[in-house]
Amino acid sequence: MNYFVDERGYYGEFGGAYIPEMLYPNVEELRRNYLHIINEPSFQEEFKQLLKDYVGRPSPLYLAKRLSKKYGANIFLKREDLNHTGAHKINNTIGQILLAEKLGKKRIIAETGAGQHGVATATVCALRGLECVVYMGEIDIKRQAPNVARMKMLGAKVMAATSGSKTLKDATNEAMRDWINNPVDTHYIIGSVVGPHPYPDMVAQFQSIISFETKKQLKEHTGNELPDYVLACVGGGSNAMGMFYHFIDDESVKLIAIEAAGKGVDSGFSAATTTLGREGVLHGSKSILMQTNDGQVVEPHSISAGLDYPGIGPQHAHLFKSGRGQYVAITDDEAMNAGLLLTQYEGIIPAIESAHALAQLEKMQLNPSDTVVVCLSGRGDKDMDTYMKYFDLQD
Ligand SMILES: *Cc1c(COP(=O)(O)O)cnc(C)c1O
Repeated sequence: MNYFVDERGYYGEFGGAYIPEMLYPNVEELRRNYLHIINEPSFQEEFKQLLKDYVGRPSPLYLAKRLSKKYGANIFLKREDLNHTGAHKINNTIGQILLAEKLGKKRIIAETGAGQHGVATATVCALRGLECVVYMGEIDIKRQAPNVARMKMLGAKVMAATSGSKTLKDATNEAMRDWINNPVDTHYIIGSVVGPHPYPDMVAQFQSIISFETKKQLKEHTGNELPDYVLACVGGGSNAMGMFYHFIDDESVKLIAIEAAGKGVDSGFSAATTTLGREGVLHGSKSILMQTNDGQVVEPHSISAGLDYPGIGPQHAHLFKSGRGQYVAITDDEAMNAGLLLTQYEGIIPAIESAHALAQLEKMQLNPSDTVVVCLSGRGDKDMDTYMKYFDLQD
């Protein structure tokens, strides 16, 4: 079984490039050039140097001793929370900004929901001195004021999407429109393993540094580069794909992807895509998405902004459908409690997204000899408001 992209841009039956004709030249330029550029030694050298000196990689693989004792197994945390800007997203934006430069682009656009990808994009634009425009739903701009301020301070222009539900989906539409109107000088940085081919493959390759490092670090810790389980949360699926990438062909390693059940998969307030979704086309590729009977995208819900997405990337759809990956769902409440538990057992406040992955430990039947790696995709600083309200920590 092949779990990676084929020459047509598909993962099994999923993937492809379902785009308006006006966007074809931009996507085609990227498709023709991305592999060649990424594989150039000069590109790899600069990418690795920035990951080391700017992002702070390799991120540690930390043996969480108290957590291990509680769950009766060897639990390692891959510390993406220690990256510059506080999450894994910077791995991808560094890769894409270097690629954009090689393509001769002078202007960068991006879409953002909670603002995390917008901040990661504005950061690398400041780093390289490129113009940056970030599209964000008008409602999200109000909800995520600190990230809007960060983007502005970094020199980005934040454009409000005022159509539809005024959230991520509408920001994505605006960014697409911008790209159609500026095909020559602009590169569109997509923030997850979603979008038309070649984005899912390109973003997965940039994020694959996570599992590349993990293999080496596990070997140092345990003498064996293969764990029994790897766990990661899934919004669009980029930290999970980075965490899975170099383990996918080792079938002894169980891949567990954790989606957000929100208030419960049957509550009407959920983002559990594989449980609730069907095959369809979203944001330029064929995948699995939450939709009504007549194909309207269903508004997702999760307490964590990063998992509040109605689809998953096409490679995840393939891992799910083929059975190579196990896809499960964790509720808001389970995630919040797992976030508190990690904080009090290990002194690490995780992003609420990452807390979904941690909550899965509670449900597994583990043996003392098992080795488990959990991708700690981000830190919880951005979520303090939510934690404070939920646990009533105000006074
Ligand atoms: C954005 C984000 C996610 C979800 O995005 P993926 O593409 O699924 O990785 C998860 N964790 C954190 C900390 C994030 O910021």
